[in-house]
Amino acid sequence: MTTDILIIGAGSSGSVLANRLSADRSRQVTVVEAGARVADPEMRMPERWPFIHGRSYDWAYRTTPQPGLAGRRLEWARGKGIGGSSLVHAMAHMRGCRADFARWVDATGDSRWSWDSLLPHFIASESFSGGASAVHGTAGPLPVLLPGPELSSPLVQDYLAAWASLGVPRIPDHNGGEMLGGTPNSLTIQNGKRVTVSDVYLDPVLDRPNLALLPHTTVQKLVIKRGRVTGALIIRDGHEELIEAGEVILAAGSIGDPLLLMRSGIGDPEVLAEAGVATVLESHGVGRNLHDHLLGAGNVYHSRRPVPPTKLQLSESMTYLSARGLTETAGAPDIVVGCVVGPSASESFTDAVSDVPPGSGYTLLFGVTNPTSRGSLRISGPDITDAPLIDPNYLDTDHDRDLLRSALEHALLVGRSEGLAGWRGKQVLPATGVSTPAELDDFGARAAITHHHPVGTLSMGSSDAAPVTPDLAFRGLSGLSVVDASVIPSITAGPVHAAVLAIAEAFAATHD
Ligand SMILES: Cc1cc2nc3c(=O)[nH]c(=O)nc-3n(C[C@H](O)[C@H](O)[C@H](O)COP(=O)(O)OP(=O)(O)OC[C@H]3O[C@@H](n4cnc5c(N)ncnc54)[C@H](O)[C@@H]3O)c2cc1C
Repeated sequence: MTTDILIIGAGSSGSVLANRLSADRSRQVTVVEAGARVADPEMRMPERWPFIHGRSYDWAYRTTPQPGLAGRRLEWARGKGIGGSSLVHAMAHMRGCRADFARWVDATGDSRWSWDSLLPHFIASESFSGGASAVHGTAGPLPVLLPGPELSSPLVQDYLAAWASLGVPRIPDHNGGEMLGGTPNSLTIQNGKRVTVSDVYLDPVLDRPNLALLPHTTVQKLVIKRGRVTGALIIRDGHEELIEAGEVILAAGSIGDPLLLMRSGIGDPEVLAEAGVATVLESHGVGRNLHDHLLGAGNVYHSRRPVPPTKLQLSESMTYLSARGLTETAGAPDIVVGCVVGPSASESFTDAVSDVPPGSGYTLLFGVTNPTSRGSLRISGPDITDAPLIDPNYLDTDHDRDLLRSALEHALLVGRSEGLAGWRGKQVLPATGVSTPAELDDFGARAAITHHHPVGTLSMGSSDAAPVTPDLAFRGLSGLSVVDASVIPSITAGPVHAAVLAIAEAFAATHD
């Protein structure tokens, strides 16, 4: 089989690329996806999102034991199917703030990655329920819902009011470039149902004769000839086949991309040798710079009155805060505190929350917006079935540990405030008596779960050490680009999905 453009992965970025690149009917675009179409009705139900992990459409990874998290291993869901991680994600739509993209410009030396330059791509991707404005669009494929009071939980409305009474500004939404302040989460939900990226970008254009989608097709290795990527070896229906391509675009995500490169002999020679793979191209940055957001789960309370079931997706408001002071309105946030309409606790505290059934309690999650801990990801063997070694190295830095403690203290501040007195029953977690910095740190390390935002494993940058150039070309090989969450050099303050879509939109807009 031959094609002009081979896109590996029909996930969030792959779906955008398939749509935009096949708009030029003169080129043949082929998208391969390891998973298939997902018909699970629960996948569509926003409030079920935490409960669908581990199903057939989840790669269901696990990290290595994390010294910073009391030696715990974390479960890492990743979508496997048409739609990728947008099949399983939590639907929060937050672009990040100006300061996040200023860091991307620092890393790349390229102003195309600034907030101002990406803004047209954010706008192009969305159909915003709040209407068009200087920062929002209504003509893009992806519905973005800013919930009003008729949809927001009364608990969350009181939570936002409690922050306001502590001096935290109220902001219209999270997506105007500044994130400090209280607002409901914007969500990719329409008519009460999850909308995946493939629903709105890929499926509507599948009738284009120049676009082919191959599900159940796993790329085992890239084919490299004289410094050029010329195609991929795929496994389809149990058989190995070759797809020859004029160019290949990696959109297999921040785990899938580096693993595929390493299986193809591209990476750190020591890592490859340990896994029994011969080096084809030495590239030390492959799989490095892995980082993620953590969330402490959580600061849990019994409720004095029944907590109505969510009409959205349980975690209805992330409030981004500055360590400089609660009343700050501009600049980068440092910490986040979110309100969940139910009990939410890491596996360390399953017993502690066993008497808090849904409807009888609520949780304040706490996290660090821009962690500085960096980890890595490696293959353990030459085959796709060899489990990867994923080490995000959580809470390795004082910066992250101090801010996680600060985030917990802020959760306790609002949790114990007058504004939530009407809801607050007994505090369940942290347990009574947990108060010294060391005790709060120990609780944070045992409470932390992933916020599901791993990025950076093929970072873009101007330095030769960065595996990907600011144009998203893979350094050292021609014919290969990387366009997904892997290229993010430093994580945005909030969830990363909107930024991933903007990266794909930006790449497609200049691709010829
Ligand atoms: C549980 C969960 C909750 C999240 N919640 C949010 C949220 O609320 N808001 C937010 O902004 N972000 C959230 N995220 C993160 C966000 O969904 C991802 O960052 C984003 O979807 C990544 O897009 P991507 O294109 O990089 O990769 P993906 O969407 O993961 O797509 C990669 C695709 O490549 C396929 N693939 C991988 N390897 C191969 C191979 N060798 N051959 C063929 N195909 C392959 C995969 O099956 C997958 O379909 C969440 C993620 C998860 C998992």
